[in-house]
Amino acid sequence: MENRALTSLSGERGILLVISGAAGTGKGTVNASLLRRHEEYRYSVSATTRAPRPGEVDGREYHFISRQAFEEAIREGNILEYTEYCGNYYGTPRSELKKLDEGKNLILEIEVEGAMNIKRLFPESVTVFILPPDYETLKRRLIGRGTNTPEDIENRMKKALSEFTFVKDYDYAVLNRDGEADRTADVIASIVECEKHKTARAPGAVETLFFGKEHR
Ligand code: 5GP
Repeated sequence: MENRALTSLSGERGILLVISGAAGTGKGTVNASLLRRHEEYRYSVSATTRAPRPGEVDGREYHFISRQAFEEAIREGNILEYTEYCGNYYGTPRSELKKLDEGKNLILEIEVEGAMNIKRLFPESVTVFILPPDYETLKRRLIGRGTNTPEDIENRMKKALSEFTFVKDYDYAVLNRDGEADRTADVIASIVECEKHKTARAPGAVETLFFGKEHR
């Protein structure tokens, strides 16, 4: 009988998808679109020591935990990767990887250092950097996100631009145009779909599927 569950040679395990992007790139909106419109995606809920922002729910955006609990989780080996960012810890709980076994693609929305650590630990992961379409758009998106003094805007511009120097270390860079988050999400979904069909992801699969039975 036809094996309808098998959609690619690489099997049913999901893809570990790392998404980064500085403030002003729109990565949050793109990820939300990916999760809402593509049911084969799950979100990796990080742990953090920063306080929840209005509207954030514990266990949904983050697991909000104390510094002491975070350090204990590191010691016990329960944190896959972590970083200190603006004075707070952020890390990926090892347990989040279980979502991959359910055949779902797992989105890790993490910063550059964490992304590079994941790529080292899991070379088969797919790293994507989301960029604004141009300098002016970035500047416009950053205005209104803080105190808005010229100095503040300049600092946030500098920070974003310094993160862009790491784009070359990612597998893919995707431009996110104004009002086109759904389209950007679809581009990322097609990248993931292509990755699933890479021959390098399925060593020995053809032998098992087509020749194994004859050789037994
Ligand atoms: P925010 O405080 O704005 O939610 O996040 C600050 C930064 O931390 C963002 O760049 C976000 O992608 C990153 N971040 C969130 N969770 C993790 C994580 O588990 N590991 C790492 N390395 N960075 C994270």
